[in-house]
Amino acid sequence: MSKRRLFVTTALPYANGKFHIGHIMEYIQADIWVRFQRMQGNLVHFVCADDAHGAPIMIAAEKAGITPQAFVANIASGRKPYLDGFHISFDNWHSTDGEENHALAKQIYLELQDAGLIEVREIEQFFDPEKGMFLPDRFIKGECPSCGAKDQYGDSCESCGAVYSPTEVKNPYSALSGSKPILKKSDHYFFKLSDPRCITFLQEWTQGLNAEGRSRLQPEVLNKIKEWFVTDESGKSGLGDWDISRDAPYFGIEIPNAPGKYFYVWLDAPIGYLASLKNYLDQENTKNNVPGVVSFDSFLGDPGVEQYHFIGKDITYFHTLFWPAMLHFSGRKTPSSIFVHGFITVSGEKMSKSRGTGIDPLKYLALGMNPEWLRYYLAAKLSARVEDVDFNPQDFMLRVNSDLVGKYINIASRAANFIHKQFSAKLGTVNSNGEQLLSQLQSAAHEISKLYEEREFAKALRDIMALADLVNEFVDQNKPWELAKQEGAEEQLQAVCTTCLEAFRYLSIYLKPVLPALCAQVETFLKCPPLVFADANTRLGAGHVINDYKHLIQRVDEKVLDKLFELPEVVETTPGSASKPQSPKAKGGSQPAHSADAPGGEPVAPTIGIEDFSKIDLRIAQIVSCEAVEGSTKLLRLMLDVGEGRTRQVFSGIASVYKPEDLVGKLTVMVANLAPRKMKFGVSEGMVLAASHADEKSTPGIYILHPWDGAKPGMRIH
Ligand SMILES: [Zn+2]
Repeated sequence: MSKRRLFVTTALPYANGKFHIGHIMEYIQADIWVRFQRMQGNLVHFVCADDAHGAPIMIAAEKAGITPQAFVANIASGRKPYLDGFHISFDNWHSTDGEENHALAKQIYLELQDAGLIEVREIEQFFDPEKGMFLPDRFIKGECPSCGAKDQYGDSCESCGAVYSPTEVKNPYSALSGSKPILKKSDHYFFKLSDPRCITFLQEWTQGLNAEGRSRLQPEVLNKIKEWFVTDESGKSGLGDWDISRDAPYFGIEIPNAPGKYFYVWLDAPIGYLASLKNYLDQENTKNNVPGVVSFDSFLGDPGVEQYHFIGKDITYFHTLFWPAMLHFSGRKTPSSIFVHGFITVSGEKMSKSRGTGIDPLKYLALGMNPEWLRYYLAAKLSARVEDVDFNPQDFMLRVNSDLVGKYINIASRAANFIHKQFSAKLGTVNSNGEQLLSQLQSAAHEISKLYEEREFAKALRDIMALADLVNEFVDQNKPWELAKQEGAEEQLQAVCTTCLEAFRYLSIYLKPVLPALCAQVETFLKCPPLVFADANTRLGAGHVINDYKHLIQRVDEKVLDKLFELPEVVETTPGSASKPQSPKAKGGSQPAHSADAPGGEPVAPTIGIEDFSKIDLRIAQIVSCEAVEGSTKLLRLMLDVGEGRTRQVFSGIASVYKPEDLVGKLTVMVANLAPRKMKFGVSEGMVLAASHADEKSTPGIYILHPWDGAKPGMRIH
């Protein structure tokens, strides 16, 4: 079988903030798939880049008093610790502001123009009279024209998923100044997605099969797309033309032959996939004798090359309609498939830094937690479906400890000592029982490969752990620790332990896409070359000598895990990530700290009904006692009386602002029906309400609430 050539990307993260756990999950998912492909002997170019352009970055840079280029360079310089830390094996990391992207975006645009798919129209657009500029979509807010949801951005609705033009938004206001925008005329450039050629192409492309005979899109994605194709009563397709230009001032790529006009960031962002690949291949081609490396043009011109994009569900529209149409009508190869994943939640909740939930990837690493625990845990939950993945701390600890330590590593540690002590580290001959077990492990390679290929990682790991169970049963049946004490059982002992180590090697092959660093240590221990899937056809063999067994992986320590979820000492400020941190690519970011859109540093949450509010039971509470918490500089332990005839223990991160003695006897407000939460120092049975600015660095201070005189413990707040 000739080896496949693959071009794989993850979504380009918007360069206005650090990575959050949602990015890391996507990178881990793609990285496991890429490592699997490489272990099959396939050639993979795996690239990504910072998505650098657009108004949010321009405005954030202006606020920081630096150029947008310097702003995105700052962000880019912080990427490496995350990528290295979680073993993400990108071949290249580039920027959409790189020269390759400027050139490619202009070229693709001119080709689309040649194809007759670009049209200039005078449109009326919202202009902020206070700021003196046309308002970017994301800085217009109002009600969704489709479902009526309030506080939606000017380009798409997070409630119903509709995509629309900002002038369709009802009751619009400027998120920059809060003022009511006025309509002003300007020439805009449109990509004619409503052209019958585009509609015909996209209907075929989205529903058809790729060159490998697989669906280009997952079934649930395809269902969603069908809604977008629906024609209205007048027979007009649901696909509208796409406004691809923005007026200066704008940080982006200037449109050829159109002074003062720039490409909308979403036009040049996906082209950044190609630009990063080009940047990589150009560099590789300056080196001598790099096998398999051809020029960018011949690589992408090769019909055999497969192209895959891993993305989050929130950016499906751009990747399944605009992107393939742009590529096709500029005479380029279209993606083989778009792989869409869901969001990550933590203990069932969307992440929120201010509430101390969510997982900070760098904090995870700084605590010395093993990155492969997270890789394994996420892989054990990931499938090919577009579903959210939940990180549950207790489940994480149990899963990692029981599977990786209890089932997998245990096999090697049990067998290695006997081989070393009694047989000079030399493997022996496997007996017939052992042969039966090993052939079972070998023959699983086909099914496990198929599951990896289909991104059914959870199923693959279930199969692998079932194999590990078989090996452990074999150990329990053959009891090497008893054989070691019996006269004349040496040969049998060596056979049993050899079987275990051969089996351990097979399990390591299958786990290596998920656990690359651990398996590199296994290769050293077993004295074998880097494992690939073809090694499932071979054995180490009798007479093979292994190295000393060193402990390969630690158990998850509950105390360290608790620390991961403690409130941070200093709340990190990640512009733009506070409101929607779970999406790897929310361009809404970078809210100016004092804008009307972000009072107190964060946008007002989406509107809820009174029935939602009434679910929260707020009560007047008396602080009966209060003390510092040993081992924590920020927590106070409060005992609260809410009129129940008992007191409740609540931990609160207010030690930097309040002395315990100042709080005793005071009344405050607590959430009385919050599920108890186990923390490092004990169970917290509720939450005390306190006010703070979202950016605690620039605007420090935490203020707990205090009712007016007359309120009594236990009274409900309505
Ligand atoms: Zn809507």
